[in-house]
Amino acid sequence: MSDDKKLKPETIATHAGRMSEAHFGAVNTPVYRASTILYRDLASLEAGNTTYRYGRLGTPSSSSFEDAVNELEGGARTIVAPSGLGAIALAIQAVCGAGDHLLMVDSCYHPTRLLCDRTLKRFGIETTYYDPLIGAGIEKLMKPNTRAVFCESPGSLTFEVQDVPAIAAVAHKQGASVLLDNTWATPVYFNAFDHGVDLSIQAATKYVGGHADVMIGYVAANESYRERLESAHHDLGLYASGDDCYLALRGLRTMPVRLARHQESGLKLAHWLAKHPAVERVLHPALETDPGHALWKRDFKGATGLFGVVLKDTPHSRFAAFMDSLKLFGMGYSWGGYESLIVPAKIHRSAAPFDAKGRVIRIHAGLEDTGDLIADLDQALANLG
Ligand SMILES: *Cc1c(COP(=O)(O)O)cnc(C)c1O
Repeated sequence: MSDDKKLKPETIATHAGRMSEAHFGAVNTPVYRASTILYRDLASLEAGNTTYRYGRLGTPSSSSFEDAVNELEGGARTIVAPSGLGAIALAIQAVCGAGDHLLMVDSCYHPTRLLCDRTLKRFGIETTYYDPLIGAGIEKLMKPNTRAVFCESPGSLTFEVQDVPAIAAVAHKQGASVLLDNTWATPVYFNAFDHGVDLSIQAATKYVGGHADVMIGYVAANESYRERLESAHHDLGLYASGDDCYLALRGLRTMPVRLARHQESGLKLAHWLAKHPAVERVLHPALETDPGHALWKRDFKGATGLFGVVLKDTPHSRFAAFMDSLKLFGMGYSWGGYESLIVPAKIHRSAAPFDAKGRVIRIHAGLEDTGDLIADLDQALANLG
Protein backbone atom coordinates (compact mmCIF):
# COMPACT_ATOMS: atom_id res chain seq x y z
CA MET A 1 0.00 0.00 0.00
CA SER A 2 2.70 2.46 1.02
CA ASP A 3 4.40 2.67 -2.38
CA ASP A 4 1.24 3.74 -4.20
CA LYS A 5 1.53 7.53 -4.06
CA LYS A 6 -1.74 8.01 -5.91
CA LEU A 7 -4.02 6.91 -3.10
CA LYS A 8 -6.11 9.73 -1.66
CA PRO A 9 -6.07 10.65 2.06
CA GLU A 10 -9.50 9.06 2.66
CA THR A 11 -8.18 5.74 1.36
CA ILE A 12 -4.89 5.92 3.25
CA ALA A 13 -6.67 6.85 6.50
CA THR A 14 -8.93 3.82 6.07
CA HIS A 15 -6.29 1.20 5.16
CA ALA A 16 -2.88 2.25 6.45
CA GLY A 17 -1.33 0.69 9.53
CA ARG A 18 -3.70 -2.25 9.68
CA MET A 19 -2.27 -5.58 10.88
CA SER A 20 -5.33 -7.80 10.60
CA GLU A 21 -3.42 -10.96 9.68
CA ALA A 22 -1.38 -10.77 12.86
CA HIS A 23 -4.57 -10.38 14.88
CA PHE A 24 -6.84 -13.21 13.79
CA GLY A 25 -8.45 -11.01 11.14
CA ALA A 26 -9.55 -8.28 13.54
CA VAL A 27 -9.83 -5.07 11.54
CA ASN A 28 -8.33 -2.95 14.34
CA THR A 29 -5.00 -3.62 16.02
CA PRO A 30 -5.89 -4.42 19.64
CA VAL A 31 -4.58 -2.45 22.60
CA TYR A 32 -1.20 -3.82 23.66
CA ARG A 33 -0.26 -3.19 27.26
CA ALA A 34 3.32 -4.32 27.47
CA SER A 35 6.53 -3.44 29.23
CA THR A 36 8.45 -6.72 28.92
CA ILE A 37 8.69 -8.38 25.53
CA LEU A 38 9.94 -11.98 25.84
CA TYR A 39 12.70 -13.23 23.54
CA ARG A 40 12.54 -16.67 22.02
CA ASP A 41 16.19 -17.47 22.80
CA LEU A 42 19.55 -15.92 23.67
CA ALA A 43 20.50 -15.54 20.03
CA SER A 44 17.53 -13.28 19.29
CA LEU A 45 18.15 -11.28 22.48
CA GLU A 46 21.81 -10.80 21.58
CA ALA A 47 21.00 -9.90 17.98
CA GLY A 48 18.51 -7.30 19.23
CA ASN A 49 16.77 -7.25 15.86
CA THR A 50 13.28 -8.45 16.75
CA THR A 51 10.39 -6.18 15.73
CA TYR A 52 9.58 -5.36 19.35
CA ARG A 53 12.13 -5.25 22.17
CA TYR A 54 10.72 -3.30 25.09
CA GLY A 55 7.37 -1.58 25.71
CA ARG A 56 8.72 1.96 25.73
CA LEU A 57 10.28 1.43 22.31
CA GLY A 58 7.02 0.39 20.68
CA THR A 59 4.28 -2.22 20.45
CA PRO A 60 1.89 -3.13 17.65
CA SER A 61 -0.47 -0.47 19.07
CA SER A 62 2.07 2.32 18.55
CA SER A 63 3.43 1.02 15.25
CA SER A 64 -0.06 0.69 13.74
CA PHE A 65 -0.70 4.35 14.53
CA GLU A 66 2.78 5.50 13.49
CA ASP A 67 2.68 3.59 10.20
CA ALA A 68 -0.76 4.96 9.36
CA VAL A 69 0.13 8.62 9.97
CA ASN A 70 3.52 8.15 8.33
CA GLU A 71 1.78 7.05 5.15
CA LEU A 72 -0.59 10.00 5.30
CA GLU A 73 2.34 12.39 5.87
CA GLY A 74 4.51 10.75 3.22
CA GLY A 75 7.39 10.70 5.70
CA ALA A 76 10.32 8.33 6.17
CA ARG A 77 9.47 7.66 9.81
CA THR A 78 6.87 8.89 12.29
CA ILE A 79 7.22 8.60 16.06
CA VAL A 80 4.43 9.04 18.55
CA ALA A 81 4.84 11.43 21.52
CA PRO A 82 2.86 11.75 24.76
CA SER A 83 1.23 15.06 23.67
CA GLY A 84 1.42 17.69 20.97
CA LEU A 85 3.73 19.80 23.11
CA GLY A 86 5.83 16.70 23.81
CA ALA A 87 6.14 16.25 20.04
CA ILE A 88 7.27 19.88 19.62
CA ALA A 89 9.91 19.46 22.36
CA LEU A 90 11.05 16.17 20.82
CA ALA A 91 11.42 17.65 17.32
CA ILE A 92 13.43 20.66 18.54
CA GLN A 93 15.66 18.49 20.72
CA ALA A 94 16.26 16.17 17.79
CA VAL A 95 17.95 19.01 15.87
CA CYS A 96 19.14 21.68 18.35
CA GLY A 97 21.74 21.63 21.11
CA ALA A 98 23.80 23.94 23.30
CA GLY A 99 25.16 26.91 21.35
CA ASP A 100 22.56 26.61 18.60
CA HIS A 101 20.21 29.34 17.46
CA LEU A 102 16.52 28.68 16.78
CA LEU A 103 14.19 30.90 14.75
CA MET A 104 10.66 30.65 16.13
CA VAL A 105 7.55 32.10 14.53
CA ASP A 106 6.01 34.87 16.66
CA SER A 107 2.51 33.38 16.24
CA CYS A 108 3.48 30.03 17.76
CA TYR A 109 1.32 28.08 20.19
CA HIS A 110 2.02 29.81 23.51
CA PRO A 111 3.45 26.77 25.38
CA THR A 112 5.98 26.47 22.51
CA ARG A 113 7.15 29.99 23.42
CA LEU A 114 7.48 29.01 27.07
CA LEU A 115 9.53 25.96 26.08
CA CYS A 116 11.93 28.22 24.18
CA ASP A 117 12.10 30.98 26.81
CA ARG A 118 12.58 28.69 29.77
CA THR A 119 13.81 25.14 29.21
CA LEU A 120 15.61 25.51 25.87
CA LYS A 121 17.28 28.69 27.09
CA ARG A 122 18.54 26.83 30.17
CA PHE A 123 20.06 24.23 27.84
CA GLY A 124 21.92 26.88 25.87
CA ILE A 125 19.60 27.15 22.87
CA GLU A 126 18.98 30.78 21.89
CA THR A 127 15.62 31.71 20.32
CA THR A 128 14.80 34.66 18.06
CA TYR A 129 11.14 35.25 17.22
CA TYR A 130 10.25 36.28 13.69
CA ASP A 131 7.29 37.90 11.96
CA PRO A 132 5.01 35.14 10.59
CA LEU A 133 4.78 37.09 7.30
CA ILE A 134 8.57 37.32 6.87
CA GLY A 135 8.86 34.78 4.01
CA ALA A 136 12.26 34.87 2.27
CA GLY A 137 13.12 37.90 4.45
CA ILE A 138 14.09 35.38 7.12
CA GLU A 139 17.53 35.46 5.52
CA LYS A 140 18.27 38.64 7.53
CA LEU A 141 17.74 36.75 10.81
CA MET A 142 19.87 33.73 9.98
CA LYS A 143 23.08 33.47 12.00
CA PRO A 144 25.99 31.10 11.38
CA ASN A 145 24.70 28.95 14.26
CA THR A 146 21.02 28.96 13.21
CA ARG A 147 20.18 25.28 13.37
CA ALA A 148 16.42 25.29 12.83
CA VAL A 149 13.51 27.42 11.69
CA PHE A 150 10.21 26.57 13.33
CA CYS A 151 6.96 27.40 11.51
CA GLU A 152 3.33 27.16 12.45
CA SER A 153 0.89 28.00 9.70
CA PRO A 154 -1.68 29.39 10.10
CA GLY A 155 -0.45 30.76 13.43
CA SER A 156 -2.12 29.99 16.75
CA LEU A 157 -4.93 32.46 17.59
CA THR A 158 -4.09 34.97 14.83
CA PHE A 159 -4.11 32.64 11.79
CA GLU A 160 -1.43 34.27 9.62
CA VAL A 161 -0.40 32.02 6.74
CA GLN A 162 3.35 31.56 6.34
CA ASP A 163 5.30 31.20 3.12
CA VAL A 164 6.82 27.89 4.23
CA PRO A 165 8.54 27.04 0.90
CA ALA A 166 10.29 30.45 0.82
CA ILE A 167 11.44 30.03 4.41
CA ALA A 168 12.60 26.47 3.75
CA ALA A 169 14.64 27.53 0.72
CA VAL A 170 16.57 30.04 2.86
CA ALA A 171 17.02 27.66 5.80
CA HIS A 172 18.26 24.79 3.63
CA LYS A 173 20.80 27.00 1.88
CA GLN A 174 22.81 27.03 5.10
CA GLY A 175 21.91 23.56 6.31
CA ALA A 176 19.31 24.58 8.91
CA SER A 177 16.31 22.32 9.36
CA VAL A 178 12.66 23.32 8.97
CA LEU A 179 10.13 22.25 11.58
CA LEU A 180 6.40 22.78 11.21
CA ASP A 181 3.56 22.57 13.70
CA ASN A 182 0.94 21.40 11.19
CA THR A 183 -1.88 20.83 13.67
CA TRP A 184 -4.36 23.24 12.04
CA ALA A 185 -4.23 21.82 8.52
CA THR A 186 -3.21 18.21 9.31
CA PRO A 187 -1.44 16.27 6.53
CA VAL A 188 -4.80 16.05 4.75
CA TYR A 189 -4.88 19.79 3.95
CA PHE A 190 -1.16 20.64 3.97
CA ASN A 191 1.56 18.28 2.90
CA ALA A 192 4.57 19.35 4.95
CA PHE A 193 7.24 17.43 3.04
CA ASP A 194 6.10 18.76 -0.34
CA HIS A 195 6.71 22.28 0.99
CA GLY A 196 10.27 21.81 2.24
CA VAL A 197 9.60 20.77 5.83
CA ASP A 198 12.02 18.29 7.47
CA LEU A 199 10.10 17.48 10.65
CA SER A 200 6.30 17.69 10.61
CA ILE A 201 4.65 17.94 14.03
CA GLN A 202 1.07 17.15 14.89
CA ALA A 203 -0.85 17.65 18.12
CA ALA A 204 -2.90 14.51 17.43
CA THR A 205 -4.92 15.48 20.50
CA LYS A 206 -6.85 17.73 18.11
CA TYR A 207 -8.22 16.50 14.77
CA VAL A 208 -6.52 13.11 14.68
CA GLY A 209 -8.03 11.99 17.98
CA GLY A 210 -11.07 14.04 17.14
CA HIS A 211 -13.21 13.13 20.15
CA ALA A 212 -11.76 15.18 23.04
CA ASP A 213 -10.68 12.03 24.87
CA VAL A 214 -6.95 11.60 24.24
CA MET A 215 -3.69 13.55 24.65
CA ILE A 216 -1.14 12.48 22.04
CA GLY A 217 1.23 13.86 19.41
CA TYR A 218 3.67 12.75 16.77
CA VAL A 219 6.68 13.86 14.75
CA ALA A 220 7.11 12.73 11.14
CA ALA A 221 10.60 12.99 9.65
CA ASN A 222 11.96 12.87 6.13
CA GLU A 223 14.84 10.50 5.38
CA SER A 224 17.55 13.02 6.35
CA TYR A 225 16.16 13.49 9.85
CA ARG A 226 14.92 9.99 10.59
CA GLU A 227 17.92 8.89 12.67
CA ARG A 228 18.10 12.11 14.67
CA LEU A 229 14.41 11.76 15.50
CA GLU A 230 14.81 8.12 16.50
CA SER A 231 17.76 8.73 18.80
CA ALA A 232 16.20 11.80 20.48
CA HIS A 233 13.01 9.85 21.08
CA HIS A 234 14.95 6.93 22.51
CA ASP A 235 17.09 9.03 24.83
CA LEU A 236 14.24 11.17 26.16
CA GLY A 237 12.20 8.12 27.14
CA LEU A 238 9.02 9.40 25.54
CA TYR A 239 6.12 6.99 25.28
CA ALA A 240 2.39 6.95 24.52
CA SER A 241 0.22 4.17 25.91
CA GLY A 242 -1.37 1.45 23.79
CA ASP A 243 -4.79 2.75 24.81
CA ASP A 244 -3.97 6.26 23.60
CA CYS A 245 -2.46 5.01 20.34
CA TYR A 246 -5.59 2.95 19.81
CA LEU A 247 -7.85 5.98 20.30
CA ALA A 248 -5.69 8.13 18.05
CA LEU A 249 -5.74 5.55 15.26
CA ARG A 250 -9.47 5.10 15.64
CA GLY A 251 -9.86 8.84 15.25
CA LEU A 252 -7.56 8.92 12.24
CA ARG A 253 -9.79 6.50 10.32
CA THR A 254 -12.56 9.10 10.04
CA MET A 255 -10.43 12.26 10.10
CA PRO A 256 -10.65 13.17 6.39
CA VAL A 257 -14.45 12.81 6.45
CA ARG A 258 -14.74 14.85 9.64
CA LEU A 259 -12.40 17.54 8.31
CA ALA A 260 -14.59 18.09 5.25
CA ARG A 261 -17.51 18.83 7.53
CA HIS A 262 -15.45 20.99 9.93
CA GLN A 263 -14.30 22.96 6.89
CA GLU A 264 -17.81 23.50 5.54
CA SER A 265 -19.25 24.49 8.92
CA GLY A 266 -16.30 26.70 9.82
CA LEU A 267 -16.69 28.60 6.56
CA LYS A 268 -20.44 29.03 7.05
CA LEU A 269 -19.90 30.44 10.54
CA ALA A 270 -17.02 32.64 9.35
CA HIS A 271 -19.06 34.15 6.48
CA TRP A 272 -22.00 34.78 8.77
CA LEU A 273 -19.84 36.34 11.49
CA ALA A 274 -17.99 38.57 8.98
CA LYS A 275 -21.30 40.33 8.27
CA HIS A 276 -22.37 40.72 11.91
CA PRO A 277 -22.32 44.32 13.24
CA ALA A 278 -20.57 43.27 16.49
CA VAL A 279 -17.64 41.82 14.53
CA GLU A 280 -14.59 43.84 13.46
CA ARG A 281 -13.05 41.10 11.29
CA VAL A 282 -12.76 37.36 10.95
CA LEU A 283 -9.36 35.63 10.89
CA HIS A 284 -9.83 32.75 8.48
CA PRO A 285 -7.43 32.16 5.58
CA ALA A 286 -10.09 30.55 3.39
CA LEU A 287 -12.05 33.84 3.29
CA GLU A 288 -11.21 35.76 0.11
CA THR A 289 -10.80 38.96 2.12
CA ASP A 290 -8.18 37.41 4.43
CA PRO A 291 -4.62 38.74 3.93
CA GLY A 292 -3.31 35.15 3.90
CA HIS A 293 -5.81 33.90 1.34
CA ALA A 294 -3.51 33.86 -1.70
CA LEU A 295 -0.81 31.86 0.08
CA TRP A 296 -3.41 29.54 1.58
CA LYS A 297 -4.86 28.91 -1.87
CA ARG A 298 -1.42 28.24 -3.31
CA ASP A 299 -0.28 25.74 -0.67
CA PHE A 300 -3.27 24.23 1.15
CA LYS A 301 -5.84 21.71 -0.01
CA GLY A 302 -8.47 22.85 2.48
CA ALA A 303 -9.29 24.65 5.69
CA THR A 304 -10.32 23.09 8.97
CA GLY A 305 -12.88 24.36 11.48
CA LEU A 306 -10.73 26.62 13.66
CA PHE A 307 -10.65 30.38 13.15
CA GLY A 308 -10.49 33.70 14.98
CA VAL A 309 -12.86 36.61 15.35
CA VAL A 310 -11.93 40.17 16.33
CA LEU A 311 -14.92 41.71 18.05
CA LYS A 312 -15.64 45.43 18.12
CA ASP A 313 -14.46 47.03 21.32
CA THR A 314 -16.93 46.28 24.11
CA PRO A 315 -16.98 46.46 27.92
CA HIS A 316 -15.92 43.29 29.73
CA SER A 317 -19.37 42.80 31.27
CA ARG A 318 -21.02 42.65 27.85
CA PHE A 319 -18.32 40.33 26.55
CA ALA A 320 -18.92 38.05 29.55
CA ALA A 321 -22.68 38.12 28.91
CA PHE A 322 -22.00 37.06 25.31
CA MET A 323 -19.70 34.19 26.27
CA ASP A 324 -21.90 32.99 29.14
CA SER A 325 -25.09 32.96 27.08
CA LEU A 326 -23.76 30.54 24.45
CA LYS A 327 -25.43 27.15 24.77
CA LEU A 328 -23.84 25.04 22.03
CA PHE A 329 -20.27 26.41 22.15
CA GLY A 330 -18.41 24.99 25.12
CA MET A 331 -15.80 27.22 26.70
CA GLY A 332 -12.58 25.27 27.01
CA TYR A 333 -9.08 24.74 25.67
CA SER A 334 -8.12 22.34 22.94
CA TRP A 335 -10.10 21.89 19.71
CA GLY A 336 -10.44 19.43 16.85
CA GLY A 337 -13.09 17.33 18.58
CA TYR A 338 -16.62 16.77 17.29
CA GLU A 339 -17.97 19.57 19.53
CA SER A 340 -18.02 23.31 18.96
CA LEU A 341 -15.84 25.39 21.27
CA ILE A 342 -15.03 29.01 21.99
CA VAL A 343 -12.26 30.69 24.00
CA PRO A 344 -11.04 34.25 24.46
CA ALA A 345 -7.60 34.55 22.84
CA LYS A 346 -4.64 35.86 24.82
CA ILE A 347 -2.05 36.91 22.26
CA HIS A 348 1.65 37.00 23.17
CA ARG A 349 3.95 38.74 20.69
CA SER A 350 7.51 40.00 20.73
CA ALA A 351 8.59 40.40 17.08
CA ALA A 352 5.49 41.56 15.19
CA PRO A 353 2.63 43.08 17.19
CA PHE A 354 -0.87 41.88 16.34
CA ASP A 355 -3.17 44.77 15.62
CA ALA A 356 -6.66 44.43 17.14
CA LYS A 357 -8.60 47.00 19.14
CA GLY A 358 -11.35 44.69 20.34
CA ARG A 359 -11.22 41.27 21.95
CA VAL A 360 -10.12 38.27 19.91
CA ILE A 361 -11.97 35.00 20.29
CA ARG A 362 -11.19 31.62 18.82
CA ILE A 363 -14.00 29.43 17.53
CA HIS A 364 -13.93 25.75 16.69
CA ALA A 365 -16.81 24.70 14.45
CA GLY A 366 -17.91 21.24 15.52
CA LEU A 367 -20.12 18.72 13.77
CA GLU A 368 -23.46 20.12 14.96
CA ASP A 369 -26.02 21.48 12.50
CA THR A 370 -24.74 24.89 11.32
CA GLY A 371 -28.22 26.45 11.50
CA ASP A 372 -28.33 25.58 15.20
CA LEU A 373 -24.82 26.97 15.72
CA ILE A 374 -25.59 30.24 13.95
CA ALA A 375 -28.82 30.67 15.92
CA ASP A 376 -26.84 30.19 19.13
CA LEU A 377 -24.22 32.77 18.09
CA ASP A 378 -26.98 35.15 17.02
CA GLN A 379 -28.79 35.13 20.36
CA ALA A 380 -25.48 35.41 22.29
CA LEU A 381 -24.07 38.26 20.14
CA ALA A 382 -27.18 40.32 20.93
CA ASN A 383 -25.57 40.82 24.37
CA LEU A 384 -22.77 42.85 22.78
CA GLY A 385 -25.23 45.62 21.88
C1 LIG B 1 -2.96 22.08 21.24
C2 LIG B 1 -1.81 22.44 20.41
C3 LIG B 1 -0.56 21.91 20.66
C4 LIG B 1 -0.26 21.05 21.85
O1 LIG B 1 -0.93 19.84 21.84
P1 LIG B 1 -1.16 19.04 23.22
O2 LIG B 1 -1.54 17.70 22.79
O3 LIG B 1 -2.23 19.82 23.95
O4 LIG B 1 0.13 19.08 23.98
C5 LIG B 1 0.46 22.24 19.79
N1 LIG B 1 0.26 23.06 18.74
C6 LIG B 1 -0.93 23.59 18.48
C7 LIG B 1 -1.07 24.48 17.30
C8 LIG B 1 -2.00 23.32 19.30
O5 LIG B 1 -3.18 23.89 19.05
